[in-house]
Amino acid sequence: MLHNDQMSQWDRENFFHPSTHLAKHARGETPSRVISGAQGVYIEDRDGKKLLDAFAGLYCVNVGYGRTEIAEAISAQAHELAYYHSYVGHGTEASITLAKMVMDRAPAHMSKVYFGLGGSDANETNVKLVWYYNNILGRPQKKKIISRWRGYHGSGLVTGSLTGLELFHKKFDLPLDQVIHTEAPYYFRRDDLDMSEADFTDHCAQKLEELIQKEGPDTIAAFIGEPVLGTGGIVPPPEGYWAAIQAVLKKHDILLIADEVVTGFGRTGSMMGSSHYGMEPDIITIAKGLTSAYAPLSGSIVSAKVWKVLEDGTDEFGPIGHGWTYSAHPIGAAAGVANLKLLDDLNLIENNTVTGDYLRAGFRERLADHPNVGDIRGVGMLAAIEFVEEKDGRKFFDASAGVGAKISAAMAAKGVIARAMPQGDILGFAPPFCLTKDEADIIITTTE
Ligand code: PLP
Repeated sequence: MLHNDQMSQWDRENFFHPSTHLAKHARGETPSRVISGAQGVYIEDRDGKKLLDAFAGLYCVNVGYGRTEIAEAISAQAHELAYYHSYVGHGTEASITLAKMVMDRAPAHMSKVYFGLGGSDANETNVKLVWYYNNILGRPQKKKIISRWRGYHGSGLVTGSLTGLELFHKKFDLPLDQVIHTEAPYYFRRDDLDMSEADFTDHCAQKLEELIQKEGPDTIAAFIGEPVLGTGGIVPPPEGYWAAIQAVLKKHDILLIADEVVTGFGRTGSMMGSSHYGMEPDIITIAKGLTSAYAPLSGSIVSAKVWKVLEDGTDEFGPIGHGWTYSAHPIGAAAGVANLKLLDDLNLIENNTVTGDYLRAGFRERLADHPNVGDIRGVGMLAAIEFVEEKDGRKFFDASAGVGAKISAAMAAKGVIARAMPQGDILGFAPPFCLTKDEADIIITTTE
């Protein structure tokens, strides 16, 4: 076996890592981490060190690592039919079965699923579908997309623009003109501390209405939002938020895209995060939990209302000019079928509410009184701890202090992976759904 030092050298010399400080990595100031195996909620590095992965990779290995049912389904598919495309009405048994399974789990008003590869390309698809939809309807000026500050929707040109985090815009000439941002539904960080949660919801809806009026309702095609803000800080919406936002959108005939890349297939404790919060989306983005990341696959689920326009439109416009070579890749589809079956067979979604509540209760019991813990929040198998410099008056740490990164590194040294969320002072937890209470206790005591 290759020596670790050699592996590290090859890594630094050849591998362009995403979301990495390139200079520090090249200089060897940040470690090369070579992960070699995983089982259940644990990953193992090349030195044989085991770490409890309390973030399920990038909140994606939902059923846990090492599931032989999925590995075998992938292997069988690769032997039988590794690839065929899905253009011009072609399909495979795996992709057609998965489409049926996805639609059986989607809200009743949804109609079809378009398969892609990852969350970013699915959201690119969604924006194109929304534009195409409005072109078919003869309103070519209705094209702008509203996203929220702190939303995360991917790293492409449009999706990086939708993403409401500065890091993804700065130095990339983003956001594109057709994307505009509105207030994040982030009650803990509200300006007015005397505002109740319900009043803050009204404030967010009011801000949205003002933005729409300023831009012109006839120019706005869609609003995109994660049911629970994910990468922006794991922030469940304030009371009544989605009902208030949807009322504004409906008034102006603006489509709602629910980005369920994180929340889809159980993370909130419900099959879909949109249903959990009473949303009625026109399009739903799915990815990570669709295959639990055993193979790349994503999807855009469109409602019957959107589908009807698209279907009728192709009579006039011709075949839809949008497709990826790997749309509905059979190996991804086989992984998806086995993964969704496991979710059902093992009742894993039910566990999210029980063990997720247990995890947050443990954090609250042990950490709520800590002078630097400002907020403990979450839903289902999602949790976040937000740190503050001073609790009284809610003085925040300077983002450059990197508090989250320091705590996350200290926890990793003790054997638990928690994610320092990109905005600095938030530690995120999104363990695999098979997490047990004993494993939750390990996370709680390591965080303490
Ligand atoms: N949308 C959301 C809500 C996400 O959290 C992510 C990734 O974390 C994406 C989209 C982009 O997905 P991908 O990284 O697979 O392109």
